[in-house]
Formats: sequence, structure tokens, C-alpha cells
Amino acid sequence: MAGERLLAGIEAGGTKFVLAVGTSPTRIVARHTIPTRSPEFTLAEAAEWFEAHGRIDALGIGSFGPLELDSSSSGWGKIATTPKPGWSNCDIAGYFGARLGVPVGFDTDVNAAALAEYTFGSGAAASSLAYITVGTGIGGGLVIDGKAVHGAAHPEMGHIFPRRRALNTDFGGICPVHGDCLEGLACGPAIKARWGASLSELPEDHEAHGVIADYLAQLCHTLFAVSAIELIAMGGGVLKAPGLLDRVRQAAAQLDGGYLPGGSRHRITAPGLGDDAGVIGALLLADCA
Ligand code: ZN
Repeated sequence: MAGERLLAGIEAGGTKFVLAVGTSPTRIVARHTIPTRSPEFTLAEAAEWFEAHGRIDALGIGSFGPLELDSSSSGWGKIATTPKPGWSNCDIAGYFGARLGVPVGFDTDVNAAALAEYTFGSGAAASSLAYITVGTGIGGGLVIDGKAVHGAAHPEMGHIFPRRRALNTDFGGICPVHGDCLEGLACGPAIKARWGASLSELPEDHEAHGVIADYLAQLCHTLFAVSAIELIAMGGGVLKAPGLLDRVRQAAAQLDGGYLPGGSRHRITAPGLGDDAGVIGALLLADCA
């Protein structure tokens, strides 16, 4: 439509890039998914898809990290040192800014999703929210009073160390840096490495459900205790296991033991935007760029 802004968004993940254009963050008019290959190939393929939609006014990128988000740094807009081959120091925001000639909003994939949930999803009535994804890794973004929390860089919630239960310490974890950090113990590949199957494939009474719920509940309790946020929206592939979110809620309540002030105002829920939180968040970053 003449005069309408056209926003572009990229949810840049380690295995796929989700691309979208929309006339607002929630009015997506086209979307496309491409596999993540080398930066040269992937960025060019994404740019070509956007160029086919004519004049774009702004781009938002929610990316896998770690990222340089300090706007006063010459490294702003880059992916920092990552084990993903070829992607260290990739100037992802700079590439699209130069090629498409538009302002670029840039944040982590999980901060983008947290902003989307806060603005349009489960957090519409909350003052503060964390978005956690549990899939090939574990990541989290934090929004307080409408702003994504950055600090020195950005949160890396997957790399806290949960308490290991007695009789539950024989698995060393798979994080290449920390071993048995939360991601090393409870992400999808960790579950497969430990029990040979995903949670969804394991029987309902298998110990894995309780063990994983306990680890994830420790993250929730920590977030509530540290930041007093109201809401945690928890999604990702592992959370598709039937009953897991309920188990996490119950385990978090048990861990807290009724101590934290705020009580029932601390909530754990599924993302209101489902799997679209990331891509809507990227469009929101474009809208604010
Ligand atoms: Zn780790």
C-alpha cells in the first residue's frame, strides 16, 4: 500500500535464518526460511530475498550470539567469537545496512523474542519478562520496563550452574566450555546424549522428565530471585514435551517454598506468540531502528 512502511526482519539462528517482511511487527506479509551455511552465502541469499520485495524502510536482526551490542564500539553489529565455523566477527548488521541502505536494529534472538512477548504476547500485562528458549541450546532474554537488558553485553542464562542432585551426577554435561552448566545438562542435545532420546520420545514415567524440570525450575527461581521479574515465557523444542511446562512450574514453586515476595505474581507460561516470537521481535527491532 502506498505510504505504508515496509519492515524487514531476520531471526538468525545457528541452523536456519527466518526472514520476514511486514507492514508492522505483527502484520507479516511474507516469510521465508533458509538454512544457515557460510556467512557469505547465507547473508547474500537473505539480502536477495529482501530485495525482491522492493523498497524496505528498516531491518531488524535478532541473532544467535555472542554479539557486540555496544553502540559506541566499532564492533557493534558483529557476531563475536563463536564456535560456529566462519561466523566469528561476521559484521551481520553492517552487511545488511550497507547492502539494503536502511537503518538496522540489532539484538540477540532471545532479547528480540522477549521484546515481542512483552509487547504483543504473554507479557502484555506485565512490567517485566524473561523469554527462555530450550532447544539446541538454552538462551534467555530479559525485558524490564520495556527495555531489553544488555549490561556489559547481553545475558547468557543458559550458562548458569544448577545444583546437581545426589545420585544424579554421573553425566558430565555437553557444554564445550563448562561441561555441566544448565545448557550442558538440559538442552535438547544434552538430553539425547544422556538418555539416547528426546523427552517427547521417553515414557511419561521416565526419570528424565523430573530431572530436566528441576534444572529448568532452578533457572526460573534464580530469575525471580535475582530480578523479581513477573513473567517467564518458556519455549523451544524441548518444551514441546507434553507436561514439561507444568512440571517446571511445580518444581519452581517447590524450590521457592513460598519465600519470594510477589508469590503468584511470578508466573511461568508458554510464549503467547508461540514459535513466532523471534521473527516478530526482529520486526519490532526494525520498527524501532
Ligand atoms: Zn556452558
